[in-house]
Amino acid sequence: MPMLFGYCLHLLLYASKGYKSAFAVIRIMKKEAAFYEKLSGNKVRCTACNRYCVIPEGSYGFCRVRGNENGKLYLLNYGMLEALQIDPIEKKPFNHFHPGSKVLGIGTSSCNFGCLFCQNSALSKSTRADDYFDPNEVIEIAKKYNADGIAYTYNEPTIFIEYALDVARLAKKEGMFNAFVTNGYMTDDVVSKMKGLIDAAVVDFKGNAEEKFANKYEIIMSNEPIKKSLIAMKNAGIHIEITDLVIPNVGDSLDACDSLTKWIYENLGEDTPVQFTRFYPSYKMIDYNETPLETLKKHYEIAKRNGLKYVYIGNVPHSKYENTYCPKCNGLVIERIGFNVEKINMDESNRCLKCGTKISMVGKPRLSSQEIINLY
Ligand code: SF4
Repeated sequence: MPMLFGYCLHLLLYASKGYKSAFAVIRIMKKEAAFYEKLSGNKVRCTACNRYCVIPEGSYGFCRVRGNENGKLYLLNYGMLEALQIDPIEKKPFNHFHPGSKVLGIGTSSCNFGCLFCQNSALSKSTRADDYFDPNEVIEIAKKYNADGIAYTYNEPTIFIEYALDVARLAKKEGMFNAFVTNGYMTDDVVSKMKGLIDAAVVDFKGNAEEKFANKYEIIMSNEPIKKSLIAMKNAGIHIEITDLVIPNVGDSLDACDSLTKWIYENLGEDTPVQFTRFYPSYKMIDYNETPLETLKKHYEIAKRNGLKYVYIGNVPHSKYENTYCPKCNGLVIERIGFNVEKINMDESNRCLKCGTKISMVGKPRLSSQEIINLY
């Protein structure tokens, strides 16, 4: 697959980073996409996500980082990282996948969704391309900081899937795990290539996966492709955790929560961790209030009533809802404060110390070193 260099004037970027001259030339990396079909008239169809954008020559897909040049589709910001940070895995947020471990989180720019409430709009609404990191370089950085794995996060990894899989392949060789933080809108073709490389995915629903909410506030037609991907990921042996961003008045339907949690129970299983996260005013929904704790508690109760064993409330630090409890005796098995694992009440086989019940968990938990290092 050919790899090309392009050059551009990147005035704003350089000015914002405090470089001496705003008139600097930087190198941009692009790579022919692995997920597309050629169509007549030099058009292409991107097959990375369920938008399946048909892109005429000289144009871009919805995400603006995958473009048609001379009848070929290119990932235009291959390896152009906009975020690079050492994080606790709990920040992603995973609660049942190597608790207490440390990941190198990487992200680029732009997104395949159009969420009006985006909590990371500086990256997702931009197509800026700051600096190129070769996949080998990412692995070297991860090793230098003793990361246990790589998290593909901050913006949607599906839109930079070719780069993510290249990094993931190298990470596997070094014994590191790979974890996706995703909206789950990727195609079956992408999931089939993730198999064996991506170990875990936290998939974020918003507004209880209500279709009207998805149309109006996420600018997607339906949540069905996400549900389909989740089943495909589960069948591919990928560990799954679910988050659901609850937004007051417009995305906090208890009926929709009931339907969603029943669907999770029936299709993904009772052990699937589910976390209802608090919304904070952001991007184009700055005039909305943060989610009341009472609303989140009602969601929590519905999920428990529907049989889910591991339910959490996120973005509410120092609450009892960020802990893991034994589903049999309700004993505290992992105590967390924010992103920190503070206490573990399980034996070597991840069994509850109080009653011996096996807790569903990938990896052996350990106390957090609580290291957040912004590298870039
Ligand atoms: S990844 Fe981007 S270009 Fe491809 S289908 Fe999705 S939005 Fe369109």
